[in-house]
Amino acid sequence: MKCPSCGKGELAVADDILSEIEGITFVERGHRCQACGEEFIDQEDSDRTVKVARKLGIWGEPLKLQRKLSHSGRGLVLRIPEDLRKSMGLKGSETVSLSKIGKSKVLIEVQTT
Ligand SMILES: [Zn+2]
Repeated sequence: MKCPSCGKGELAVADDILSEIEGITFVERGHRCQACGEEFIDQEDSDRTVKVARKLGIWGEPLKLQRKLSHSGRGLVLRIPEDLRKSMGLKGSETVSLSKIGKSKVLIEVQTT
């Protein structure tokens, strides 16, 4: 299977993928690209990690993370936390839509097309 991230490397089975959530490291199975090193966690294992993290109370339900905005050029930048990025499978090239809800809420939706 070719790597969906770089399109060059072959994916090899890996059983030592590490995910860190709130300082706790989870070991997961999945595949790792032999060219770019991108890791793809098996759905089963990533579900298990979320389950365990929930039990430990380190996976918010609903997920609520605090992030500070930062400045970039003339705009404001919001960084997506790594565990959220991983759990949503974001590559960084997606288009998102923002909807303002009331005075202080913004809904971010990832376009799936
Ligand atoms: Zn790759």
